[in-house]
Amino acid sequence: MRGRRDRQCDDHRGAPLSRFDVLIIGTGHAGVSAALHLRQAGFTGSIGLLGEETELPYERPPLSKEYLTGTRGREDFRFRPAALWAEKAVTLNQGERVEAVDPAARTATCVSGRTFSYGELVWTAGGRARRVPGAHAIRTLADVDALKAGLETAHRVLVIGGGWIGLEAAAATAKLGKEVVLHEREPRLLARCSGKALSDFLVAEHRRQGVEVRLGAEAPNAAEFDLVVAGIGIDPEAGPLLAAGAEGGDGVLVDECGRTSLPNIWAAGDVALHWNRFVPERPIRIESVQHANDQAASVAKAIAGEPKPYAAMPWFWSNQYDLKLQTVGLSHDHDEELVRGEPGSGRFSVLYRRRGRLIAIDCVNMVRDYVQGRALIERGGVVDAARLTDPDVPLKSLVE
Ligand SMILES: Cc1cc2nc3c(=O)[nH]c(=O)nc-3n(C[C@H](O)[C@H](O)[C@H](O)COP(=O)(O)OP(=O)(O)OC[C@H]3O[C@@H](n4cnc5c(N)ncnc54)[C@H](O)[C@@H]3O)c2cc1C
Repeated sequence: MRGRRDRQCDDHRGAPLSRFDVLIIGTGHAGVSAALHLRQAGFTGSIGLLGEETELPYERPPLSKEYLTGTRGREDFRFRPAALWAEKAVTLNQGERVEAVDPAARTATCVSGRTFSYGELVWTAGGRARRVPGAHAIRTLADVDALKAGLETAHRVLVIGGGWIGLEAAAATAKLGKEVVLHEREPRLLARCSGKALSDFLVAEHRRQGVEVRLGAEAPNAAEFDLVVAGIGIDPEAGPLLAAGAEGGDGVLVDECGRTSLPNIWAAGDVALHWNRFVPERPIRIESVQHANDQAASVAKAIAGEPKPYAAMPWFWSNQYDLKLQTVGLSHDHDEELVRGEPGSGRFSVLYRRRGRLIAIDCVNMVRDYVQGRALIERGGVVDAARLTDPDVPLKSLVE
């Protein structure tokens, strides 16, 4: 792989750089992490960071939390100051959407007609929010700017979707003084990712905060509302790689270092379908900041010649009202759900076991369980249910 010095020689005529030793598609958490970890690993080749959005790279979590409620401004959650990209010799190409990849020619062609060539391609294109006609989505800064503008005059708001994004949107709009109806098609909240104890607690909490929660029903008539927001999940942005023959389906399949089945093409983040050591049965996609950062770091290290398979402990957080919700581990395919502490107190944890082994913990205002449970999940042993659910027994004391 050629060094940065070589590239500068190539570009002495001042032509825009269109060939990169590593070309990263997507300027989200995974793309930024890949670029910075490449430099951290001592990679000196040219790096291009290319993405469809025109905003300087920013973090998504505040979009449905502090940015929506107005307690943080858009400049507060940029990944890095603009100057950093020049300092790290990472060339930002924004406002470009890749529509085709040719692995044999090692090129990526954009909707604009521009073609970039690469030594290695890192695909971190994330996911696209599923849209409901006439409803706002919450995926990009532009989405939330439009939502905020709509909320200025709206009084009665319908939130469609009782997953993490819908719940955060309901909490934020309720905090703004709106009359909020939260509609979830399933009979309970967070049906796809958490157990019943947390669902029940969150229904009660949102209702206590004045949100009308409707479960397991047909969506209400949107005409009855001033504004509708939909948080109904994402579709992975894997099209160009799948069209080029990459293995996958619901995402692009990668190995433990983030390699796709196409030569010189890697993927990480929301788009990456991977075998996770915490879910032995099938490949999965994970939509979290931790996953995007850590998997992209693994890709960067492999490209820089120091492969370190991705094996990080998954974690996730959400803030709603004054609730600090934290998850460690993955509860997929759990066969048992245990409650530790008293949900009515607003401080408790839900523990998930698979064949007797602790695999994940959802913590509600229980930072201690979150921190201590990590080692217990990592260890993977069978732990007695009575001891796990006794809040007087610290989880760390159960780690042998
Ligand atoms: C509102 C919101 C709140 C969240 N809150 C939390 C939270 O509290 N905790 C947590 O852990 N996670 C949270 N998440 C999830 C987390 O933000 C995502 O998992 C993470 O952003 C994924 O990063 P990524 O880089 O894989 O993808 P993305 O962030 O989706 O970035 C992909 C980028 O690629 C661009 N792109 C897509 N296709 C193309 C193409 N063909 N050509 C060029 N560019 C392209 C996109 O425009 C986008 O900028 C939240 C997500 C959202 C939307």
